[in-house]
Amino acid sequence: MSNVPVAVVTGSNKGIGFAIVRALCKQFPGDVYLTARDPSRGQDAVAKLQAEGLHAFFHQLDIDDLQSIRALRDFLKEKYGGLNVLVNNAGIAFKVHDTTPFAVQAEVTLKTNFFGTRNVCTELLPLVKPYGKVVNVSSMVSSSALGGCSQELQQKFRSDTITEDELVELMTKFVEDTKKSMHEKEGWPNTAYGVSKIGVTVLSRIQARMLNETRKGDHILLNACCPGWVRTDMAGPKATKSPDEGAETPVYLALLPSDADGPHGQFLSNKTVRTW
Ligand code: NAP
Repeated sequence: MSNVPVAVVTGSNKGIGFAIVRALCKQFPGDVYLTARDPSRGQDAVAKLQAEGLHAFFHQLDIDDLQSIRALRDFLKEKYGGLNVLVNNAGIAFKVHDTTPFAVQAEVTLKTNFFGTRNVCTELLPLVKPYGKVVNVSSMVSSSALGGCSQELQQKFRSDTITEDELVELMTKFVEDTKKSMHEKEGWPNTAYGVSKIGVTVLSRIQARMLNETRKGDHILLNACCPGWVRTDMAGPKATKSPDEGAETPVYLALLPSDADGPHGQFLSNKTVRTW
């Protein structure tokens, strides 16, 4: 088993995830894994870094597929005895003018952004080693969508006692409410992406609390962040930040020094803790 530190970035064949891997290849003192659901897109991305003189390893990972997540988990356990840095970056968004029915958009978006990310956390968090870092890439849209929720929902999503099961129940309810065209009546905002990212931010707050309760002595720091508005296939060419600039806050959180006792359980943008 290797004692070399290891970092894993989900959805990193392009966009912000690829830029996070590029930065980690330069700054992380260990093996960096670029992961992608499609092996050929992943290998092409590794080759692109190679051409820049950087070395990333590749492992397949589709966060929608529990078998794929477990295969990565078993690989990390066997080869490294765990992992040191996990960046949950993989995500999807329907384009604003997409005509797919809203209920379908809600189901598909929540499936990857919330349920897929949660499944990765369920399988990989127990493997994170002492002094490890976990970064969940959320969005400022989670904050604006929170503001668009009913007072009752806002209170639940800001609660310091909400459990992961309760959060899963709420995310499931959102999808069900969209199918009955009742989501607005039930206090939800009209954004599937926004609700999925509320899920990611609140999940991060819950997971950080659980780490405090169960693994306090391990000094693991877990946070959610927004990369900013970044020029990728998701956000388009008019966005203000380059992918490398978008990677800055996630990389800052992934590389917090081992003597740092925070941030932990926070939502950050531009390396600054934001009020949730
Ligand atoms: P992007 O260019 O569309 O890249 C998304 C990445 O996620 C791709 O590598 C994609 O793989 C991967 N992915 C999607 N579904 C996956 C799955 N089921 N399993 C594994 N990988 C999957 O988007 P981006 O702009 O870089 O976004 C990265 C993250 O930042 C997302 O979580 C996004 O919500 C967040 N974010 C972006 C912005 C922005 O302005 N761009 C702003 C706020 C937050 P494929 O190539 O196979 O599709």
